[in-house]
Amino acid sequence: MSPCPICGTDCQEDWLSCPRCGWDVTPESRGAIAENPSHLYWGRSLWQRLDQEVTLNRRLAMLEQRLFDLEQRQQMLTWPTQPSDSDWLYSPLATYLSQQNWREADGWTWQRILEVAQVGERLWLEPEEIANFPQQELQALDELWYSYSQGALGWSVQADIWWESAGQYSQFCDRVGWRSQGTWLYYDDLYSQGDAPRGHFPILPWRKRSCYGVGGFTAAELLDHWMARFPPSHDGGI
Ligand SMILES: [Zn+2]
Repeated sequence: MSPCPICGTDCQEDWLSCPRCGWDVTPESRGAIAENPSHLYWGRSLWQRLDQEVTLNRRLAMLEQRLFDLEQRQQMLTWPTQPSDSDWLYSPLATYLSQQNWREADGWTWQRILEVAQVGERLWLEPEEIANFPQQELQALDELWYSYSQGALGWSVQADIWWESAGQYSQFCDRVGWRSQGTWLYYDDLYSQGDAPRGHFPILPWRKRSCYGVGGFTAAELLDHWMARFPPSHDGGI
């Protein structure tokens, strides 16, 4: 017996798939996961998020579909010269993330958000635009950050910290490394590559320095609006 890598259910060695979550538990699959742990983090996070929300069948169908999608994405990353590569919208982000180039990934993410929100010349989102920002887009971006960072980065990670910090911005900043020993960090001071504190990226509520905010709103206000999109325990959220 060995536990399913996704849901932890004990599986016999000769079983092909996990009876609970449907994950492929063959030795080949386990070997592939060891080489590509982002699949594992991604699958787990999806499983946890879906666990309480939908029926088993629906859950399995979605998991399979998402994993299939992820395989497709992964293939595109593996063969970047493939013509279909440019068809995938998030390829640049996935590439930056796979290189642990958080700064470039963050810049791309921010541009993408401005573009999706259709803010025109403006370089920030109004609270109402944050509230109405498309859930699907938010989810797609967050899942990429989360899976490529092996569960260390992304808004759902920040949301956990935010709700644990009871919405105290300075406490949140100390924990994600936006403030260090009482000093509010500038964008250039961040851990732009490789190891970074949990929840360090992406940056939504500020762009220049963590105490400033953007567009006439304080960083604390803006973060509060964004984190409202990721309610505690993810109920109804992503
Ligand atoms: Zn399972």
